[in-house]
Amino acid sequence: MIRPWSSEQPSKAALLSILAISHRFMMDSGVEWSIRGLDSLDPEEAITPSHRLQLAFRYKIEKWVFRAVNDIFDRQAGRKQLRSITNEDIENMGVRTFVLIAKDIETVQASRISVVVNAPIAYHSPHCSLNQQRERDCAHAWRDYWRTIVPQMLLAADQPTPLQDLAAFLRHTEIRHVENACKLQILSQFEQAGVLTIEPTVRKHVASSIWDLYQQGYM
Ligand SMILES: [Zn+2]
Repeated sequence: MIRPWSSEQPSKAALLSILAISHRFMMDSGVEWSIRGLDSLDPEEAITPSHRLQLAFRYKIEKWVFRAVNDIFDRQAGRKQLRSITNEDIENMGVRTFVLIAKDIETVQASRISVVVNAPIAYHSPHCSLNQQRERDCAHAWRDYWRTIVPQMLLAADQPTPLQDLAAFLRHTEIRHVENACKLQILSQFEQAGVLTIEPTVRKHVASSIWDLYQQGYM
């Protein structure tokens, strides 16, 4: 017998049954209880992101859509993202959801590449600009740093630096031959371009598009 009130951790199968039954008989507290239980399973037993999406559609659990999308984006960072989605995942989440996620993973990847390719324009402090040679060296060192270090960070095959962490990292990193005042000015201009915050925005956007489609009955 399943006893939700027992202190022992119930199994995933038990939680899934309770979720199904509670949903069927509209017992909200049972639904909430099993959601909490499923969310706190050990990592090796935890439900996969695509299974979570499937359950989100089946039982109308909106908050799980965002969580699942986040997990899919995080699961295999870097260049493996799309390849890491299996046929079983696609079956679970549905083709429309997969297409939305795939497009947005592409968007994020394209943004990373565009940041790598386009070094932010160098601005120079009044002190740096006093001496033309110094300013040239500073600009050169900045471009050089961008060309050599930033690709390794943003396009790493495993665990690339999130775009939104790049500016903070650079702010705290000393770059040889680049004046700190110049660097800070460059970074504050660069941050205003908005490309660095694209990833969280895209994740939220894809989760809400998926939920909209679901509500229109497409899932
Ligand atoms: Zn400078």
